[in-house]
Amino acid sequence: MDFDLSPEQTMIYEYGKGLAKTYDRAYWMENAEIHRFPEEMYNQVAADGFLGIMVPEAYGGSGLGMMEMLLFLEGISNEGVPLLSLVVGACMSMSIIGEHGTEAQKQFYLPDACKGDIRFCFAITEPDAGTNSIRISTLGKPTDDGRFKLSGAKTFITDAGDSDYALVVARTTPLTDVKRKTDGFTLFIVDCKAKGIEMQPIPMSIPLPEQQYQVFFDDVDLGPENVLGEVDKGFDILFESLNPERILGVALCSGIARYAMGRAVEYANDRVVFDRPIGAYQALQHPLAKAKTEVEMASLMARKAAWLFDNGQPCGAEANMVKLAASEAAIKAVDASLQCFGGNGFTKEYGIFDLYPLVRFVKTAPINNEMIHNYIGQYVMGLPKSY
Ligand SMILES: Cc1cc2nc3c(=O)[nH]c(=O)nc-3n(C[C@H](O)[C@H](O)[C@H](O)COP(=O)(O)OP(=O)(O)OC[C@H]3O[C@@H](n4cnc5c(N)ncnc54)[C@H](O)[C@@H]3O)c2cc1C
Repeated sequence: MDFDLSPEQTMIYEYGKGLAKTYDRAYWMENAEIHRFPEEMYNQVAADGFLGIMVPEAYGGSGLGMMEMLLFLEGISNEGVPLLSLVVGACMSMSIIGEHGTEAQKQFYLPDACKGDIRFCFAITEPDAGTNSIRISTLGKPTDDGRFKLSGAKTFITDAGDSDYALVVARTTPLTDVKRKTDGFTLFIVDCKAKGIEMQPIPMSIPLPEQQYQVFFDDVDLGPENVLGEVDKGFDILFESLNPERILGVALCSGIARYAMGRAVEYANDRVVFDRPIGAYQALQHPLAKAKTEVEMASLMARKAAWLFDNGQPCGAEANMVKLAASEAAIKAVDASLQCFGGNGFTKEYGIFDLYPLVRFVKTAPINNEMIHNYIGQYVMGLPKSY
């Protein structure tokens, strides 16, 4: 077993350090506060060839895998400048098109997406179905001439308003008409400017450059060219994208946790109260040490999950367990860091409190930790279904 990164992987992991010299935490926060997409930073990432990490070389990408995607997102998150849109765009949408798209779809979308000229969002969550995705009711109704009319509503769709295309998970056969509940799903590549689409931004309390949207579809006309994979068999493709999404949640958590702890260590070494640097007090030092340990353990397991994925092996157990571990470790890490800063932790100038919602939301999304516990209990350990 070899724990070394290759020179190329090391370069990918370290890339964030150079990027953050130009697009630093202050730049990221300026955009986050007004929910402006950080175009300049995104264009730089595109120009440096990182958007197409998981896209085959023939279509403008670098043909690398989940491990490199993880290293890239973790590396930029270490610097406090995560790009959430990479999860839904570069990973979940572009890599899936690369894997399951027709030749024409790959040629049409991927080179432009790798250059950063077009962006994707990913839409599965619905207001009524919530976590129970089997119950989604957005319907791509087949028409007599082999086309589809898409109607329904999605919610919390990251970057939808600024994206050019959305990968939309819909039913083409309603739940009531299928044999197995996972039958009847179809993935559509939908032009966000198509007739019949309306969007409404959702005012969110998380400081993120990427805005979340409600998206409404009203008889949107789609053709076979919009179908990704096979009609009614989209669930398998969807399933493939869930583990990568969880692994990237870990990248965000580990990186932001390290960023917070790095800032806390610097502050706690400098700040003197009762004649000693506050970092000498075990009440501050031990929670940081514990969180550091848990974050590094999670980061290591994320690499195992990514390795399994890249090697075509099942990684559901690892991806779920590490998403649970990382989100909880990162919350503890940011909380322990915040405590070091005293009142300063809550100021805009120091910007530590702003890190909290960033890791806290990973306990809820892309899938809540309660469902992760359910998965581990049922599928990893063999306990009865609990819900
Ligand atoms: C910042 C952000 C970005 C997002 N981006 C996207 C995106 O780009 N695309 C997209 O499709 N979605 C996106 N989402 C949506 C996200 O995936 C959902 O919010 C999440 O899956 C939870 O669904 P829900 O909000 O409907 O919660 P609900 O399903 O209403 O669940 C509420 C709570 O109930 C509990 N719960 C539910 N079921 C169970 C159970 N069986 N056992 C125990 N407890 C349970 C959990 O604690 C859960 O948090 C985003 C969300 C956020 C916050």
